Amino acid sequence: MPDRLKALEAFAQRRSATPSRDWYVQEWLLLLFAVGMLLFIYFVARHEAELEKSEIIRDAALIEQSITRKLEADQTFFDRLALDMGDGRFSSEEFDRLAGKRAIDSGYILDVLRIKRTLEVTRHAPAFNSLEAVTLNRAPFADQIRISSFSEKTSRSTYSQPYRGATGRYFIEYAAPVFDQTRFDGTINAIISFDALLEKSAPDWAPRKYRLVISDTDGNGITNAEAMNLEAGMHQHTLPMSLPWRDLQLTLVGAKPNSLLPNLTLSSAVLALTALMVWTLMSLRKQQRMRVDAERDRDRVYMQSISSLKETNDRFGTVLDSLDVSVYVSDLHTNELLFCNVQLRESFPGVAVGQSASSIEDGFVVSPPEKYPAVMLVTAANEPGGVFKDELEHRPSQRFFLTRTRAVRWVDGRLARLTTLGDVTDRVSADRIRQTQQDRLTRTSRLMSVGEIASTLAHEINQPLAAIANYVNGCIRRLRSNGSPDPTIISAMEKADVQVARAGAIISRVREFVRTREPERRAISINDLAADMAKLVDSDEESRALRCVLDLDPSLPKVFADRIMIEQVLLNFLRNAREAMSHLPAAERIAVVRTRRVDGEMAAVEVLDRGTGIPTEVAGQLFSPFFSTKADGMGMGLNICRSLIEYHEGRLTFEDNTPCGTIFRFTLPFDEGQI
Ligand code: ADP
Repeated sequence: MPDRLKALEAFAQRRSATPSRDWYVQEWLLLLFAVGMLLFIYFVARHEAELEKSEIIRDAALIEQSITRKLEADQTFFDRLALDMGDGRFSSEEFDRLAGKRAIDSGYILDVLRIKRTLEVTRHAPAFNSLEAVTLNRAPFADQIRISSFSEKTSRSTYSQPYRGATGRYFIEYAAPVFDQTRFDGTINAIISFDALLEKSAPDWAPRKYRLVISDTDGNGITNAEAMNLEAGMHQHTLPMSLPWRDLQLTLVGAKPNSLLPNLTLSSAVLALTALMVWTLMSLRKQQRMRVDAERDRDRVYMQSISSLKETNDRFGTVLDSLDVSVYVSDLHTNELLFCNVQLRESFPGVAVGQSASSIEDGFVVSPPEKYPAVMLVTAANEPGGVFKDELEHRPSQRFFLTRTRAVRWVDGRLARLTTLGDVTDRVSADRIRQTQQDRLTRTSRLMSVGEIASTLAHEINQPLAAIANYVNGCIRRLRSNGSPDPTIISAMEKADVQVARAGAIISRVREFVRTREPERRAISINDLAADMAKLVDSDEESRALRCVLDLDPSLPKVFADRIMIEQVLLNFLRNAREAMSHLPAAERIAVVRTRRVDGEMAAVEVLDRGTGIPTEVAGQLFSPFFSTKADGMGMGLNICRSLIEYHEGRLTFEDNTPCGTIFRFTLPFDEGQI
């Protein structure tokens, strides 16, 4: 599996294994936060309640003090007034004026009475007309008598018990004794309304914060008693009033409910913020969960696709490994080996992924990248097929591979070269063997047909040849014995005799060849052979004139050939050259016989003429048996020549000569011992 795939798999596993412990921690933190906020509110509420408590105690003391101070000032005033009245310093009218003013100024003294010793009310200075009747009609009551007698006895001022007036409100009276000289002369009584007292003598802020209640020690209300019951849930504080009437007490009832919620705005803000935060965290949490779920799903799909990718990859690897051909993939540009199957590693030991693919390719006579460059593959990749097939020879292993190469995109996206190498060595050698056999068969059949013709001809010609030889010999003998005057005739006759003997030799050779099928090949000098043949055809005779010019490579090693056969071929070339130039004047019939080395290991023999040349339509059938453009031509020469040369593992070819004429050429292998 490629490293990239492994890395992807490891990553996905790591992700799916990520613990969700963090979530629980978050949940606990959220809970702790909410509890913490509630506790905070509770403690703030408690703290505020305590603050309120201490505040109410302080306020109660202040209010009580304020009331007491006012009353004490009144006491002093009325004591003084009583003293002055006793001394007769003030007239009754003046009493009315002073007392009345005091009453009005105080706001809570309803009336000031001058009560005689007989308890008769002689004057009164009412603050409010509406109450006049009440106070005027006020009959002396038991307590009145008691305070009067108390004042008389003790010569001290005193307060009455609170009492309820006709309107249902409570009052109290302050009695200051008047002494005419030393004689008790009644009292000056200031009638104080509790309700007004509280209203006027308490500080301004008190009514805003509290309901003030004055009650007796049994809790029986004197003022505002209902407040204590109605607002039992409020903060309240009671303290005794430090006045001569010791049995009264002042209660402060908070205007706000006594709740654990300290400050509604603050606590609701804190609660709202807490709720908002909790809600935010919850929704964040929800989103996180959704995201995590989505990621899980994605990871699962991812894992599935990775595992299917892995399976596909494994399958791909298995398929490639079980193939009979070697497969490798290399980077198209760097030629780095990206993949190779088992077969390839077996065929090319030591090859490994990561190396350069040239370790495989260098051994080829022509390597796939040389033959099919990257540009060629990429261009062809877009076309249908896009595969390049070739049969390449691998030199080190001496094997042949059928290669298929094409551009592919590798798993990591880069362009790569996919090459398959199918070993076709067996087929190639079989083909070669078959081809060799086929060639041999063709050659053999050609030789056989040539042999049969030759055998027939030899048989037929042998008789006339023998007769010619006899006649020629007879002629020579006769000419000699007759003493012929022209020695050239004898010489020509002798040449004719040699040629007849040669014809006989050729015929017997052909017969022998046909019979044995094996010519006599040995090391011969091709230059000597060429020179002999040139000399042979060199003729002065006008009609058959042909001058041979030799152009021989003296460094040529000997060739391995049957001399007679090669002479026959060269002779045929020269004869054809002469016939091709027969239209030329005798002096211009020049053929060049050239020998040279070709391909390093072959000798080539060429005959260059300046004849008619070979037209294209003739060239195609030049080697067909019995093809001839001459009236007396046999058309067998070139056919036999090619068979003979091919028998020697050489080649017979021809081409146009410049400026005119033809070059006929055959090649022969050097004798191995000569090279
Ligand atoms: P033949 O000489 O009996 O015709 P060959 O097989 O030797 O048979 O030659 C076949 C034909 O090839 C000849 O008829 C001639 O047309 C052509 N040919 C051979 N050699 C030459 C040459 N040097 N120049 C032109 N034509 C040639």
